[in-house]
Amino acid sequence: MVENRWNAQDFAEFAAEAGEDPAGRALLEQVYASRLIGSDPDLVLHGGGNTSVKVERADLFGAPQEVLHVKGSGHDLARITPAGMPGLRLAPLRALRKLERLEDAQMVSTLRGAMLDASGPYPSIETLLHAFLPHKFVNHSHATAMIALADLPEAEAVIGEIFGGRVGVVPFFKPGFALGRAAADVFDADPEVEGLILLNHGHFAFADDAERAYRRLIEQTGTVEAWLADHRRPAPRRAKAPAPVAAGDVLPALRGAIGAVSARHSGDEDAPMPIIDLRRNAEIDAFLARADLADLARRGIATPDHVIRTKNCPLLLEGGDIAAAVESYAADYTRYFEENAARAPDSGTMLNPAPNVAWIPGLGIAGIGESARAAAIAADLAEQNIRAMAMAEDGGGYRPLDEARLFEMEYWALEQAKLGARSRPEFAGRVVLVTGGAGAIGLATAEAFAARGASVYLVDLSEEALARALERLGAGHDGAAMDITAEGAAERAVAGAVSRFGGLDILVSNAGAAWTGEMAEMDDALLRKSFELNFFAHVAFAQATARVLRAQGRGGDLLFNVSKQAVNPGRGFGAYGLPKAATMFLVKQLALELGAEGIRSNGINADRIRSGLLDDDFIAQRSKARGIDEATYMAGNLLRREVEAHHVAEAFVALAGARRTTAHIMTVDGGNIEASLR
Ligand code: ZN
Repeated sequence: MVENRWNAQDFAEFAAEAGEDPAGRALLEQVYASRLIGSDPDLVLHGGGNTSVKVERADLFGAPQEVLHVKGSGHDLARITPAGMPGLRLAPLRALRKLERLEDAQMVSTLRGAMLDASGPYPSIETLLHAFLPHKFVNHSHATAMIALADLPEAEAVIGEIFGGRVGVVPFFKPGFALGRAAADVFDADPEVEGLILLNHGHFAFADDAERAYRRLIEQTGTVEAWLADHRRPAPRRAKAPAPVAAGDVLPALRGAIGAVSARHSGDEDAPMPIIDLRRNAEIDAFLARADLADLARRGIATPDHVIRTKNCPLLLEGGDIAAAVESYAADYTRYFEENAARAPDSGTMLNPAPNVAWIPGLGIAGIGESARAAAIAADLAEQNIRAMAMAEDGGGYRPLDEARLFEMEYWALEQAKLGARSRPEFAGRVVLVTGGAGAIGLATAEAFAARGASVYLVDLSEEALARALERLGAGHDGAAMDITAEGAAERAVAGAVSRFGGLDILVSNAGAAWTGEMAEMDDALLRKSFELNFFAHVAFAQATARVLRAQGRGGDLLFNVSKQAVNPGRGFGAYGLPKAATMFLVKQLALELGAEGIRSNGINADRIRSGLLDDDFIAQRSKARGIDEATYMAGNLLRREVEAHHVAEAFVALAGARRTTAHIMTVDGGNIEASLR
């Protein structure tokens, strides 16, 4: 349920920042209200919704002019600032209402021309609707309850019953000039209305002071929520609840099948794999247990606003062949495109026909996208969508917009522009698991992949170091703390990456540690301990990763941090060099056995990198023993330059990008002839 979050004291303090300037004050008042609206996911989601305020400002010659400040496109209401609400001269916008029609391109150009600051953010696509209404403060949301209400079979009659004429009803138009004009006509027919409901779209509420305009938005939404709750007749559930399904049994296969469709669609065998954001909670479980689930899956999305991010229908995955289900979805989408594009020749080319949302009874609801962020947006919208669907279907019937008009929205140039430019980073959609991920080399490698669009899953022994590393990486990455030599650790880590991102593409098996001692007196337990970490953990992670890569069927990379010790033994480093030599052989063995499945196996021989393994004390001690200063010791290679963690990271990235290279060991040691491979 939405609630009124207005706080008079917060508001007064916030607006006081503007000082004596009335225009600045009104703008700050609306910024305060906008943030309240933006922070409630049942009012707006992901850049949806917009707000405006009309003020008077002097022009360059000192003459007063009316100015409309409206939310800038791409800005999020929850974090909006005055700079995110560009000002436009109101008079030329109002004058447009006299026109019978206005092309999108003409509208965009007129809005640009009216901007006070030509370098400011571009104003919302719904600016003209704000301009055509007379009120000082105008708020627009896409509330779940309003979406549900608009999808009822007798929506207009129900709105009349609920509001008794206090709220006007506007038929569906794409946002832009036609919608602005239609809304203004409805308003003019009864200027006493305190709000407008835009069928299959959302809600406007307005007033001449900021608090009242906000309160009307909340109250009108709450009234609809209460009506829907009163009229709710819960849907029948299936006789048998869906059997629980494990993420690992479904998501990698789903990911691989979608990756195959994307590769075929783009003609690029290395097209991005999708990230899958899985959601589950009691509400989702209840929805997935509905007897009418398959019917709802075909009925279409609750609001056309979301169609570019979710597509019209979800993929319903319930048992059976996952790849066949994805192929059948893509075939249906292709048919939908071809049928509708035949009627609208300007539609351009077909988008990727793979699903953006999956409903998986027994597991949850999945958002699918080319990045963790895109997948999270699809998942958030899918969650809101099932709430609106259930509210409407149980409150009288769910009747969303027809396919032809959804298509028009999906392939409308101004909507496509919201998805932004199509240049994608090299590792977009790839999931990378890094062991020893919080250490110097591990974190540098994680950062290098993340900077190129990958989603990273870090594994590290230290919980504290892991938390710090994840904070540094920022949103969209994850990890788990564990002792990777423990029984079942590799399985747990890989399962963690699969449930967070849907699968795995690149393993950077990096964790290691050196124990020293001469071989002739080597303690057996110590040697075995070193083998556990420096060899057997690599094997376990390679095996667990290979199982996921095989389930996806789209190839992948196994990358290992070997060591120069594998080819060039150092005195006292036997306990380290022996398992590393075995790991170097492992690189080749895996390359031989997995190559036919497109799975590549490569390694790095690095040397003398400042890290947990080679710390400052150790460097001081070694350089002193050789009678040289620390800098000379660290640069003791053919290039006479210190090798740093980021150099190793770049080498891992280069190997993952070398699509025709396998069974290769790359040295990153500044040049060391004794350790060079023959
Ligand atoms: Zn809207």
